[in-house]
Amino acid sequence: MLIGCHLSAAAGFRGLARDAVAVGANVFQFFTRNPQGGAAKPIDPADVADFLATARERSFGPILAHAPYTLNACSAKPDTRRFAREVFADDLARMENVPGNLYNFHPGSHVGQGVEAGIALVADTLDAVLRPEQSTTVLLETMSGKGSEVGGRFEELREILDRARLGGRMGVCLDTCHVWDAGYDLAGDLDGVLREFDRVVGIDRLRAVHLNDSKNPLGSRKDRHARIGEGFIGLEALVRVVNHPLLRDLPFYLETPQDSLDGWAAEIALLKSRRTA
Ligand code: FE
Ligand code: FE
Ligand code: ZN
Repeated sequence: MLIGCHLSAAAGFRGLARDAVAVGANVFQFFTRNPQGGAAKPIDPADVADFLATARERSFGPILAHAPYTLNACSAKPDTRRFAREVFADDLARMENVPGNLYNFHPGSHVGQGVEAGIALVADTLDAVLRPEQSTTVLLETMSGKGSEVGGRFEELREILDRARLGGRMGVCLDTCHVWDAGYDLAGDLDGVLREFDRVVGIDRLRAVHLNDSKNPLGSRKDRHARIGEGFIGLEALVRVVNHPLLRDLPFYLETPQDSLDGWAAEIALLKSRRTA
């Protein structure tokens, strides 16, 4: 089973690998830079080499880099869109230091321009930054649909993938809290939600799962993550997610609110203990 959590990249790739081992993870997610979007630290080749050695030794699965939250590819403001392109392109260039992994981003918020205009701007951004030769797979994250967020409907993700020139090489990261908050009933009808995802996007595009419980009921459009089993989705539904035949081979990344590594270690141990053969 490939399972891990979101870890701090403050101590470099070496620190990420150390923390992953400490929590019993074989995958992890991290921010490429300050989540608010500041400059990224320069890559240290020795740090990367150390990480790659641990990853090989421990048979790590794919690591997932998360773009900063301030990256809004479909902003109404040209400056914000330019910033999004710069950060996106820079992150993808840096990811080639750890080839063959995943980069996840939020489609963004269209802020009054409308979903269609937002989708077109996201596709333009992708066309400006994706390179046919890159080894990183870029993932669109399923969103809760709060405010003017794009990506709360599977149809919107599909349209972005269709419009971007290299969209055929991209994938999707399904966030359980977000899809629940967007109104897809993962707890009551997981098969139905996956059937819908397959019909609209194609199940082969699903490359990663953000495993979170939700502080709010189905369709609330809030996006507030809860610890596993402490929210409205509930432990049993999340156990069904990690064991579902269409999902079980994907990497699972916890983004639950925890105060220390111990919290994630406990969640990872719990989910591993509930994994069926
Ligand atoms: Fe996210
Ligand atoms: Fe997420
Ligand atoms: Zn979220």
